[in-house]
Amino acid sequence: MNSVRIEADNIAFSYGEPRVLRDINLSIEACELFAVVGPSGSGKTTLLRVLAGLEQPSHGSIRLNGVDVRDIPVAGRNVGMVFQNFALWPHMTVFENIAFGHPSAQSSGTETVEARIEKLLAILDIAETKDARPAQLSIGQQQRVALARALVHEPRLLLLDDPFSNVEQELRKQMRHDLRTLQRKLGITTILVTHALEDALSIADRLAVVVHGTIRQIGSPTAIYDFPNSIDVARFVGVENFLAGTLRHVERQMIEFASPDIGTLRWPMHDRPAEGPSMLSVRPHALHLCPIDSFRDGRYSWIEGDVVASEFLGEVVRYRIAIGNAELSIKQPHYLGATATPAGTPVLIGFDPSRARIFPVGKNADISTPE
Ligand code: ADP
Repeated sequence: MNSVRIEADNIAFSYGEPRVLRDINLSIEACELFAVVGPSGSGKTTLLRVLAGLEQPSHGSIRLNGVDVRDIPVAGRNVGMVFQNFALWPHMTVFENIAFGHPSAQSSGTETVEARIEKLLAILDIAETKDARPAQLSIGQQQRVALARALVHEPRLLLLDDPFSNVEQELRKQMRHDLRTLQRKLGITTILVTHALEDALSIADRLAVVVHGTIRQIGSPTAIYDFPNSIDVARFVGVENFLAGTLRHVERQMIEFASPDIGTLRWPMHDRPAEGPSMLSVRPHALHLCPIDSFRDGRYSWIEGDVVASEFLGEVVRYRIAIGNAELSIKQPHYLGATATPAGTPVLIGFDPSRARIFPVGKNADISTPE
């Protein structure tokens, strides 16, 4: 398949007031699986529709392999799209759904559309469903039919709008694995929109986090997960603990974070976040819950608190710990036979400061991160 590189410069779009997309800049490589993630209502589907040509941006340009597509209608862009609900015709068979809009006499090179459909059904492992109607298929099979319908045009770009929503967890894992395998096999540039972070982290080469119609961060799954560049992105990637305080640079590449809740912590840091009002954030599983009289290993920062509540979740126990006026969430691995530390117990919390992130608060709140 003839894959494309896609570039979007300064895209803006609105359905009226207010603006839904602002300052969208993207560069997606040929054959890349690129995910667009973000909370519901942040503009992900709209971005996909603008890239497909179903909506015209009010500002900015889109280029496919360097060619501006402003005046090229949807049909001429050679883009395949899978909609959230798959949009299959209930009264048509699988074959008819895929062939819809393609007279079977039409051919691409030497291959007839019929032969191409047979081949796609085989690749997608749904050959036996050819004469079935959508209602007779599982969700996973319906998704593959929708994919086949998008791919039968031999598109240069595949756009998927939240294709795993409404699918239960186990099937979802299988479906995204299948999608990744197929995408690699076909070598087709693919943009996957999803509100579920795990879908994007597990299969995308890179992802963009969209919040309130702007791209807040673009990077590899691990870069986004480990180094979110703002509080909004951090929240979206599952960081729960935020402590307000003030940051100061002190001697020898040390930073000092002073908070009314946890006192003053110091640790060495190579990149020097801006001084002033800041938020310290740390993931629940990066905090260690220890007995109050534990040895305080100098490689960690230590704070004292009290257990407020615990919740046994199987693999982990989730604790809520009161620290001054703040509360922290901690996830501890569960060990065979262990019982949770009861509410009211004074405890020591240890964490490796290099695993904490500091976010400046107020203007210029974004910080640089590796891609
Ligand atoms: P997401 O895909 O991230 O959930 P959408 O792109 O669907 O977000 O929606 C972004 C915003 O645009 C939302 O506020 C939504 O209500 C609004 N919106 C979406 N579609 C339309 C439409 N056809 N007309 C007017 N507003 C719309």
